Amino acid sequence: MKRITSFLILSLMLAFAADAQKTTNGKPAVDLPKNIILMIGDGMGLAEVYAAYTANHQQLNITQCDQVALVTTFSADNYITDSGASGTALACGSKTTNGKIGMDPDGKPLTSILKLAEKKGLSTGMATTCDITHATPAAFIASVKSRKDKYDIALQFLDTDIDVFIGGGLNNFNKRPDSVNLTDSLKSRGYEVITTLDNLKNAQSRKIAGLLYPAHPPKMSDGRGEMLPVAVEKALDILSKNNDGFFLMVEGSQIDWGGHDNNIDYIISETLDFDKAVKAALNFARDNGETLVIITADHETGGLANLEGDFTLGTAGGKFTTTDHSAIPVPLYATGPGSKEFKGFIDNTDVFKIMKRLLDL
Ligand code: MG
Ligand code: ZN
Repeated sequence: MKRITSFLILSLMLAFAADAQKTTNGKPAVDLPKNIILMIGDGMGLAEVYAAYTANHQQLNITQCDQVALVTTFSADNYITDSGASGTALACGSKTTNGKIGMDPDGKPLTSILKLAEKKGLSTGMATTCDITHATPAAFIASVKSRKDKYDIALQFLDTDIDVFIGGGLNNFNKRPDSVNLTDSLKSRGYEVITTLDNLKNAQSRKIAGLLYPAHPPKMSDGRGEMLPVAVEKALDILSKNNDGFFLMVEGSQIDWGGHDNNIDYIISETLDFDKAVKAALNFARDNGETLVIITADHETGGLANLEGDFTLGTAGGKFTTTDHSAIPVPLYATGPGSKEFKGFIDNTDVFKIMKRLLDL
């Protein structure tokens, strides 16, 4: 009996010690992720998500996330941000003036979360449905005064050791005004340069430059197909081989272009495609158990109001109030270890700060 009692006391002490390890200063310690997948729907405000949710009969993968926050997006010089400034805020944690990429308002280069992850030995990647040198992905790779400096942005991919990047924009690498062929430079740095979706599907390399279109990939309605979900799966295949973890940025780039066009069908088809990429990320995260998935937007586009919808028919309509971006804060959805840190009313620069803290970069 005495032996059983001692055993019980010992077990309780061990259980208490284990519990104590999980707390710091009385606060529950954070469950830390090894990997982060940051997914950005460009121009994807709550109205755009809700239009897609309505059109898809009340079913989205995005809305499966257990943690939600609201994110302010204003830039250093404007109530309404552009994708350069908001991409920089998410990627580098600093407000900047509209049009700048990876620089503060004074032109001082900033270090992105992707570059910090790379320095710490994590694998890194990006997958987008635009030219890979476009503003949002550029903010994670480059520091330039203007988002229009696409040839300079392409050049700065070579300053990094990013493991996999997939999007459009081949021409910025191999048909350049300076006649430098950057696809040759990429090959000599160990990348397999891939220019078709079929070749991407079958690729076995550990380093991939997927430049699948000369400029921007087509719209979903013009036959882009499975490009983004396939790109995400391929990127995760490659990145998950690193035991030290990875950072992956995924962008649904053209939701924004539907907003600029005030075309709700364009917004819905692009958001549903982005949602398929979200499914690929969530499936990976569920099996992996050490991956934080964050889904947000850089800003809203179109000032859309949801005014009509039929869940059964899958129809959604509304009114746009602008052909540009709006200032309304955007939703952020998160799931996985560390996701509880994303809560309340936060700023886009906080997204960087929380990711940096969680990955201990
Ligand atoms: Mg973008
Ligand atoms: Zn835009």
